[in-house]
Amino acid sequence: MPELPEVETIRRDLVPVVVGRTITRAWISPSAPRLVQLMPPEEFARQIEGQRIADISRRGKYLLFGLDSGLTWAVHLRMTGRLMHRERACPEDPHLRATFGLDDGTWLCFVDMRKFGTMWLVDDATLVTAKMGPEPLDESFDPAAFRGVLKRRSAPIKAVIMDQSVLAGLGNIYADEALFAARINPRRAAGSLSRQAVQRLHAAIVEVLHEALGDRGSSFRDYVDGRGNEGSHHLKVKVFRRTDQPCYACGTPVRRVRLGGRSTHYCPRCQR
Ligand SMILES: [Zn+2]
Repeated sequence: MPELPEVETIRRDLVPVVVGRTITRAWISPSAPRLVQLMPPEEFARQIEGQRIADISRRGKYLLFGLDSGLTWAVHLRMTGRLMHRERACPEDPHLRATFGLDDGTWLCFVDMRKFGTMWLVDDATLVTAKMGPEPLDESFDPAAFRGVLKRRSAPIKAVIMDQSVLAGLGNIYADEALFAARINPRRAAGSLSRQAVQRLHAAIVEVLHEALGDRGSSFRDYVDGRGNEGSHHLKVKVFRRTDQPCYACGTPVRRVRLGGRSTHYCPRCQR
């Protein structure tokens, strides 16, 4: 599933080719009846046609296209969604769910194998992104405030940092990687972490996300950037999906457990 580094990479790819363009025609596939939220797909297509894209921002894992009319087109890729810019018509693909023709003859193509991806056209973007925690790469992500939030939670730290109301944009890959970098066992109760441990975790989250962003994200399965190319950070992960392989720090086999319904990878020796 695309997380902050992947969604931000797509955003950066799309800004130079899409901002300033007008959407001349939109098509939503009948194969994706749940793609458009809050209005019928035909209504969405009718309303978005003729809109000029003024900017693209991101909140957590949401891409937010600001339109000249004041409306926001919000996109969440969920599990397998891909949003790609193409110079010519969108290539044929059985999983093509939506296409957006632009006034310079180029296209935005939305491909989604599992069909969990969602889009909205809303007056106010906070309708979609309300109740989200701070952006981990912004100054608003403050170690003292982070500690205050964790202190009140007894759930496992892994589940808490993936809670989008605590922190925006972290998912399974980077939660595992950040906890390894901070040497914290993912099952530890969030509220039990020392001040030093929270400080290590805060720094690890920022560092792991920056590194993944520098590598244009991780392509374990479906993720591609805004041009349709894979990222490379999956080649550098320390624990994620390295089950039974030796820990890079101590050689102990990386362990995989289920935690809150998600597979979790950690080194039982380095992460206490
Ligand atoms: Zn280890």
